[in-house]
Amino acid sequence: MRELRKAKTVAAREGSGERVFRRVVDEKGRVTLPTEMRQQLEIRAGEEVEFLLREDGEWYIRKGLHQRSCTFCGCGADLIEVWGQVLCRRCAQKYVFLLARELRLDISVGTGGNLPD
Ligand SMILES: [Zn+2]
Repeated sequence: MRELRKAKTVAAREGSGERVFRRVVDEKGRVTLPTEMRQQLEIRAGEEVEFLLREDGEWYIRKGLHQRSCTFCGCGADLIEVWGQVLCRRCAQKYVFLLARELRLDISVGTGGNLPD
């Protein structure tokens, strides 16, 4: 059996703030997710990750959206993602309403001007 090279963390582009986590693919096409990624995204054994292929040909990996929970209330239903943050629609509406009120913006979020429950 071929011994796999040890996982490495290397700097990508100096000064860019980006970091590349290099892993070796085994004979079955498997790789180990970097510990830092698993901790940051709270990915645990048995959970799914998603591989996204964008139109520009770049691949991305993220935690499965359906297994995530709302940043504010912790529920797992009716989730949306905004700027990398996961919110349920109810909390998102509440957040928009409170933000608009704080910023004194006159917008309607479909609540008839009332704060959602
Ligand atoms: Zn919520």
